Amino acid sequence: MQRTIEIADFALPRGAVSIQQLMAMPRATWDHLRSEINRQRQIDPLNPLARCRLCKGPVFIRSHYASGGHAPVYAHYPESPADCPWYQGVNLKPDDARAAQYHGHQESALHRWMCETIATVLEQDPRCRLVTVDTYRRPSIAARGRYPDVYAEIDGLGKFAIEVQLSKPFAPEIVARHIHYEAEGVALLWVFRTLDAELPQGFHDVITLQRGNAFLFDDDAVAASSTRNTLVLTGLLENDRGGFLKPRLVALDDLDRSSGRAVFIEDRRSDRLLDYCRAGRAKWWEAFKEAPPAEFDYPFDEPCFIPAWDSIKAFVPELSPWKRRCWSEQFVRGDRLFAELAAILFSIARTATTGKDRVYVTRYNDASALTSMLNAKLAAQAFMPFATLIETMLRATPARDRLVRTSLARAFEHAKLESEQIAPGHPIWSGAARLFPEIFDGLRRAELDDLGKLPGWAGGASQTAQSSS
Ligand SMILES: [Zn+2]
Repeated sequence: MQRTIEIADFALPRGAVSIQQLMAMPRATWDHLRSEINRQRQIDPLNPLARCRLCKGPVFIRSHYASGGHAPVYAHYPESPADCPWYQGVNLKPDDARAAQYHGHQESALHRWMCETIATVLEQDPRCRLVTVDTYRRPSIAARGRYPDVYAEIDGLGKFAIEVQLSKPFAPEIVARHIHYEAEGVALLWVFRTLDAELPQGFHDVITLQRGNAFLFDDDAVAASSTRNTLVLTGLLENDRGGFLKPRLVALDDLDRSSGRAVFIEDRRSDRLLDYCRAGRAKWWEAFKEAPPAEFDYPFDEPCFIPAWDSIKAFVPELSPWKRRCWSEQFVRGDRLFAELAAILFSIARTATTGKDRVYVTRYNDASALTSMLNAKLAAQAFMPFATLIETMLRATPARDRLVRTSLARAFEHAKLESEQIAPGHPIWSGAARLFPEIFDGLRRAELDDLGKLPGWAGGASQTAQSSS
């Protein structure tokens, strides 16, 4: 049932004109009224020619096509309050919103039209128990408080908060909303109208929280929603080249909301993050497999460590000048020193993964091989500057229980007293961070942890068992 504005109050001398009077007018009369309203709107939008009797909001005359021709009806301009009892509902065609763009109300009109249209198609869904639309005129999501643009409760799917975002989402607010709705058990979905080639940062922030997914309520989505009597969105998934895969139409039923944090079609971020981590150490695992310390007195001279070194110095270019300095200042082969340090870190990772001591440097192979190896290495002058680095790794993993053993705790203390420690920013620390971002790369570690994907060996609570390979 379509609600309608029953009475419009025109500026004097015209006065009140009921909908019955309007509809009884000859076409030329209401055509003239219509163009006068539009003209006044151009000249002085704050003083509209006609206002709704109930809400006092500005109204215009919409030409409504019915059987046999056009008929005039009143309609609220976008800035009229949405809670007017005569609010006319939604025009499924965005023409009004587009027309309003020329009157300087581009964003609020389009925003309103999107919110109302989304609510309307949700109402068509027989599973939908409740739909509400917030006032759309407040300028920013910050000002809109905790009320979502559209809120819906759908049997079998749950509660959804839908934010229509047309420009400049503000990062702290975006995050605050995710936190808020996660706590409320409401799935938060950000919906755009289009995605420009050059996206504002706020859009990237939203897409990040949605794990590489973007949702549009564009013309295709509107048409599909209207046909299927439920909300359908155009879903865009990030590809690996900074763009998006071919768009696909998705209903709310198609979305994964198991993570709580965000709703998405596919998690495009976590796997890439984990791939990034694995790529940093792939060549190293090959080398350690090929040259186990049980078979080589000094494995780090073996040719298999050449591609390993090449890979890390490609990732961390500052290792090359560091290596030259090692030689010119100390006659130390930096690449071998790094390989041996890497072997220490890989020993911690592998032991943490399996819970069984396994080392890639020294020939210890008993149940306390890791502790014995660490004790031996920390006693050597060459590795003392890395005590903090090694301890950081050990503490982050389940193998941290080794630190309870006083011999190892003392070895760390001693090394730190004897030698100045390298810190984040040092080429070696950066190299370690590229081998084990899950440990040393704070941003990626936190992101994985946030997503519930930090592997168990790195101290996370990831449900899926992920090895350090
Ligand atoms: Zn009204």
